[in-house]
Amino acid sequence: MAKIHELIVDLNSFEFKKTVDAVLDPGFTDEIKLLSSVDVHVELYKDKDSIIVTGSVRTVVEDKCARCLKEVSIPIEGTIEATYANQDSLPLIEEGAGDDLENLLPLEGDLLDLSDRVIEAIIVEVPQKVLCKKDCAGLCPFCGANLNEEPNHCCQKKAEMPDDWHIAISELKAKLKS
Ligand SMILES: [Zn+2]
Ligand SMILES: [Zn+2]
Repeated sequence: MAKIHELIVDLNSFEFKKTVDAVLDPGFTDEIKLLSSVDVHVELYKDKDSIIVTGSVRTVVEDKCARCLKEVSIPIEGTIEATYANQDSLPLIEEGAGDDLENLLPLEGDLLDLSDRVIEAIIVEVPQKVLCKKDCAGLCPFCGANLNEEPNHCCQKKAEMPDDWHIAISELKAKLKS
């Protein structure tokens, strides 16, 4: 992935707090398809051995309806929460800290690249199963016709299904009855 200089923070450039505001081009990543630019607002706080990062991300993601495969745009409002800690203090923090510190990351060098945090914040907000509408009728399992566009679709191909398929179905039906 290309480096986005707005998202690379030089930790020597501030003492306690730094704010990063950026508007990223939708093409900044090819991990997700974005339909609009990405508004990023991040605040970094310097602690003794760590950097605490909080922020928000806004964009619009394109995904496909799980039933009819139509493209759907999903407005995203994600949050960034992470703590970067020095390698030396990492094992200490990890012990007994449990799941609370899932977002604990090692601090490497003086430059902090926030691009992965931005992408993560977007990806976790995309629903597992996207639907174009709650009652999407999906596609005809036989010919692939969009049943939202053809509500009265009566499939020609259904009649052409091989005989053994019909036999299998009737056997299954018989089994369920017994
Ligand atoms: Zn759909
Ligand atoms: Zn059909």
